[in-house]
Amino acid sequence: MNAPNPLSVPLDDPFGPHNLPYGVYSTAADPAPRIGVRYGGHVLDAGAAARAAGAPGQIVSLLSAPVLNPLLAAGRPVWTRVRAAVAEWLTAPEHAAAVAPLLVPLAQALPHLPFEVADYVDFYASEHHAANVGRIFRPDAADPLTANWKHLPIGYHGRAGTVVVSGSPVLRPCGQRRAAGEAAPSYGPSLRLDVEVELGFVVGGASPRGRRVAMAEADEHVFGVCLLNDWSARDIQAWEYVPLGPFLGKSFATSVSPWVVPLEALAHARTAPPPRDTPLLPYLDDAGVLPPCGLDIAMELRLNGHTVSRPPFASMYWTYAQMLAHLTVNGASLRPGDLFASGTVSGPRPEQVGALIELTHGGARPVELPDGSRRAFLEDGDEVVITAAAVGPGGVPVGLGEVAGRIEPAR
Ligand code: CA
Repeated sequence: MNAPNPLSVPLDDPFGPHNLPYGVYSTAADPAPRIGVRYGGHVLDAGAAARAAGAPGQIVSLLSAPVLNPLLAAGRPVWTRVRAAVAEWLTAPEHAAAVAPLLVPLAQALPHLPFEVADYVDFYASEHHAANVGRIFRPDAADPLTANWKHLPIGYHGRAGTVVVSGSPVLRPCGQRRAAGEAAPSYGPSLRLDVEVELGFVVGGASPRGRRVAMAEADEHVFGVCLLNDWSARDIQAWEYVPLGPFLGKSFATSVSPWVVPLEALAHARTAPPPRDTPLLPYLDDAGVLPPCGLDIAMELRLNGHTVSRPPFASMYWTYAQMLAHLTVNGASLRPGDLFASGTVSGPRPEQVGALIELTHGGARPVELPDGSRRAFLEDGDEVVITAAAVGPGGVPVGLGEVAGRIEPAR
């Protein structure tokens, strides 16, 4: 019998050995950013652990980088080997003495953006969100969904350079907006600042220009997932978006969680997407594509500490495999560090929507917070936190952590 491992975490810990998400952190004592793996309430210095465990040079090198991009570039077979090695360092008793000093309490780990974002694309994959927003932005249209919506996952290219890690302050953007009933636009701070609860998919393993990535190959390119808040200035957005789509109403900031949960950790969360009522072109037809690429992830939106919504990711119409297949169907290349997001996650029920514009019916019905204050949209000083957990093995959830941000006044 082996002695109990001193590194063990409680069996029901959402950050146990079944999860092992990657991030980048520093400490006050050592400000150099380095790759960490969250384990229970601690973060493992992954590069130091690789050296201490005598790992092969390639693994030492990949985990000693200040960002995840070299690991992302290495591809699926290497990701699998690295994950197995990290799990062994944390759970095999023979490594315990060497690894224990390399664990930092989570509270001492300052999170950094875990990877350099190459290209950033945001999709629009929730039928409920698209229909709710369609009714608000196009009240006179017969169908709240546009004619293309059920034939392809709609998306737009966002701004990679303003993706920031959780905890980064979010400055209220200024811009052009035209209020209802006004003839001309004015310039000033956004008066309708909103959130969008989303999941981000982190891409690795490059594909060359001219080569399509089929749905069946998606798992070779999706390294893992993070939480994402697509901050949205609705007044700027509503005035600028016709006919080319989101621009300055979105590009001022996009927040991501510090932890990238490996796709392997979500094996038990896989679920069939909702039934489709419109036939799909072959490159998007996922009937028979195994395993299913829907994900059973329970998300939660908190405003100033109060839960205002619980969006269910399993309700998303389009899967990550379809999004990736569509993203590359024209021959667009993939680069390690590409990030594509799901679009706002909204379920069918009013308490499951992932944006304030839906929750408050375009601002007409503000939500009341426990302190008696009311919010149609975000006020300066408001703190928004998105959390989530996925279905995991044996009923133990897989934690995705949180993405948080506080609104600072416009400058
Ligand atoms: Ca979005």
